[in-house]
Amino acid sequence: IGDSKDYDSETESVCPFCGVGCKVSLKVKDGKVKYVEGINGPANEGRLCVKGRFGFDYIHHPHRLTKPLIRREDAPEKGLNVDPGNLSTHFREATWEEAMDLAATKLMALREEDPRSVAGFGSAKCTNEEAYLFQKFIRQGFKHNNVDHCTRLCHASSVAALIENVGSGAVTATFNEIENADVAIIIGANPVENHPVAATYFKQFAKRGGKLIVMDPRGVGMRKFASEMLQFRPGADVSMLNAIMNVIVEEELYDSQYIHRWTEDWAAEKEHLRQFTPEAMAPICGIEPDQIRRVARTFAQAKAGLIFWGMGVSQHIHGTDNSRCLISLALMTGNVGKPGAGLHPLRGQNNVQGASDAGLIPMFLPDYQTVTDDNIRAKFNNVWNSDDFSNEKGLTVTEIIDQAYAGNIKGMYIMGENPAMSDPDVNHARDALAKLDLMIVQDIFLTETANYADIILPASALYEKNGTTSNTNRQVQRVRPAVAPPGDAREDWKITVELAQRIGLNWDYTDVSEVFAEMKLTMASLDNITWERLEIASITYPSLSETDPGQSIVFGDGFPRAGGKAKFTPASVIPPDEVPDAEYPMIATTGRQLEHWHTGAMTRRSTVLDAVEPEANCSMNPRTLKLMGIEPGEMVRLTTRRGSIEIMARADRAIAEDMVFIPFAFVEAAANVLTNSAIDPYGKIPEFKFAAIRVEKIGDA
Ligand code: SF4
Repeated sequence: IGDSKDYDSETESVCPFCGVGCKVSLKVKDGKVKYVEGINGPANEGRLCVKGRFGFDYIHHPHRLTKPLIRREDAPEKGLNVDPGNLSTHFREATWEEAMDLAATKLMALREEDPRSVAGFGSAKCTNEEAYLFQKFIRQGFKHNNVDHCTRLCHASSVAALIENVGSGAVTATFNEIENADVAIIIGANPVENHPVAATYFKQFAKRGGKLIVMDPRGVGMRKFASEMLQFRPGADVSMLNAIMNVIVEEELYDSQYIHRWTEDWAAEKEHLRQFTPEAMAPICGIEPDQIRRVARTFAQAKAGLIFWGMGVSQHIHGTDNSRCLISLALMTGNVGKPGAGLHPLRGQNNVQGASDAGLIPMFLPDYQTVTDDNIRAKFNNVWNSDDFSNEKGLTVTEIIDQAYAGNIKGMYIMGENPAMSDPDVNHARDALAKLDLMIVQDIFLTETANYADIILPASALYEKNGTTSNTNRQVQRVRPAVAPPGDAREDWKITVELAQRIGLNWDYTDVSEVFAEMKLTMASLDNITWERLEIASITYPSLSETDPGQSIVFGDGFPRAGGKAKFTPASVIPPDEVPDAEYPMIATTGRQLEHWHTGAMTRRSTVLDAVEPEANCSMNPRTLKLMGIEPGEMVRLTTRRGSIEIMARADRAIAEDMVFIPFAFVEAAANVLTNSAIDPYGKIPEFKFAAIRVEKIGDA
C-alpha cells in the first residue's frame, strides 16, 4: 500500500463510512490519495477497519461526476437505465451557470405554484455545516419542514424514545466508557461488521473479564466473546426485554434510590411488567426462563452497565417500544449518568448524529428544537433574518416518497441520498421518483437515484471537503480536504449556498467556518466548542468550559426534561406487520456487510473492498439450504409481496433456520425490492428487519 515516505503531503480527516468516526491521516502523492493510516482520534486511538484502511480510492474512480448534467430532451423514459460509463444517452454536459440557472428557475416556478410541492433529502454523509444549510434551504426557501435524511431509515425510533424518556436523542455515554463497565449488553447490533473499531473495544472488555451479553436473532460475530448469547426469535425483543425487567421487579433488584431521585412513572412501569413472566415469554422469544433470570440478575447486580443497540432494535414497527424497554432497563438499574454506564444507540453513517443535531429532520430544528414552538421558530427567524415558516411537522422520507407517488410533491432536491436503493419497497420509491417534474441530484456518482434526475450537480467526497462531523460518541471532529474535487465538481455547501442565492435567499457565507459560527447561535450543544479549538482536537459535546475536552457521560445531575427527571414508558408486545404464512413461510432481514457500505455507491467502487466482496449474496442456515436442495454458491429466487430478486445463497450457521439475511448494497439484487414499508408510528421508521419471504431454488421455480 505504501511506505512511510512515499507521499507528497498528509492531511488529517475522519473516515467517511461508519459512525465510529475514526481519525485518519491521508497520504497524497501526485494529487491522489495513496494510502490511509489511523491516527490518534478519541474514538479509534490509531485503529482502522478494512473500510477505513482500504476503502478510499472510490474518490478517484472514473465514474466520478465532474460536470453538471442536464437531462436531454430526447432522453429515454426515466428509469434505472443509465450506463454509469456512458451518461450521454440520457444527459448532456452543462456549465455551472446553465445548470444552476435552470435548477433555480424551476424551483422558483414550483414555489410560485405551491411551495409544498418541493421537498428535500439531505445526507448523513455530508458535514454538519452542509446538513445545517440544507435544512435551512428548505425551511427558509420554501417555508415548510418537508426535509429529512437517512436517520429516518436507521435510528429514528431510538431517537424518538430517547427524546421522550431522557430528553435528548444522543448517547448518554461514549462507547469507550466500556472501560469502566463491568457488564455490557449489545442488542440488535453486529459491531464486528458495522462498527468494527468500536467492536475492538468490546472484545477487549470481554477479554479483561467484563460480562458481555449479546442479544440478537442472528448469531452475530460478538457471540464468540459473549458471557451470554440470547439468540431470540425475530421480532420478539419486547417480550424478552420485558421478561428480563419482570425478574428485576419480582426479585426487587432495582435501584430504588435512583428511581426515586431521577425518574417518574415507575409505579405504572412496575405494574405493567408483572404480566411478562419469563415462563410466559419464553415460548414467544425462544429464550429459556433460566437464562432470562440469569441475565436479569447479572445486569441488575453489576456496579455499572452499558447498553448498546443497533438497527436490529430500531428497524421494526415496534422500534420505539424496543428502545423504550432498553431505556427502562437502564433507568431501573440506575445505569445512566455514572462512569461505565449508559445508553448508546450505535449510530450508522459517519455523520448521522451530526446531521440530526443540525436539524435535518422534519419535526426538529437544530438541537432537536421543535418546529411547533413559536418562540423557537422566532429565534431561528431572527438569526436567519427571515419571515416565519410553517409550525407543522414536515413529512418524513417515506411520506415524501408517497406524496411524490400521489403527485402532490412535484420537485425534489436530493443531496447525497440514494432513495432509489435505500427506501423500503424500492420499486414503489423508484416509480415515485420517475413521476417528479423536477429532480435535482447533488452527488459524487451517478447513483441509482441520479438515474431519475433532471439536473445533476457534481459534488465532493468527504476527503475533498472542509467542515465538521459528529460521531456516535457526540465527538465533533474536523474534516479537511486532502485533494481537490475532480473536474468542475464542488463542495456541497458551496452548491447549496449558490442555489439559495439564486432562489432569492439572503445568504452570504464565504467560508464554511461562518456556517459553523451561525450554528452556534442556536445550538447550545456547541457551547464552548469553537472552530479554533476544533483545529487542534476533537471535542465531545457538551463541553462545559473553553478548556473542557467534553463530557463522556451525561445526565449524572439530572435530565433535560421538565422537572429534570427521566421517565418510564411501558411497552406492550406488537407483532411484526407481516408474519410468515404458507405462501411466504420464512423471515427476511436486511443489513450491511463488513466490506460494503449502505447502497454500495462508494465501496463497490473501492478496488480492495469490491475485490473481497464482489457479488450480491444472501445467507441462510446450512440445514435450511440442505432441506431445500440448495448448494452454497447456487442462485436462489427470493420473493415477497413487493417483488422478487435472484441472488447467490451462502451458508451461515449464525442465521436461524427460518431466516434469510440479505445485504442491501447490491443493485443487481436489491434487498429493498423485498422489504416492507410499514412504519413505526412514533419514529416513522420502516420495518427493514422483518418481512415474510419465499425462497426457491432457481431450477424449481
Ligand atoms: Fe471507518 Fe467505521 Fe471502520 Fe472506523 S470503524 S475505519 S469509522 S468504517
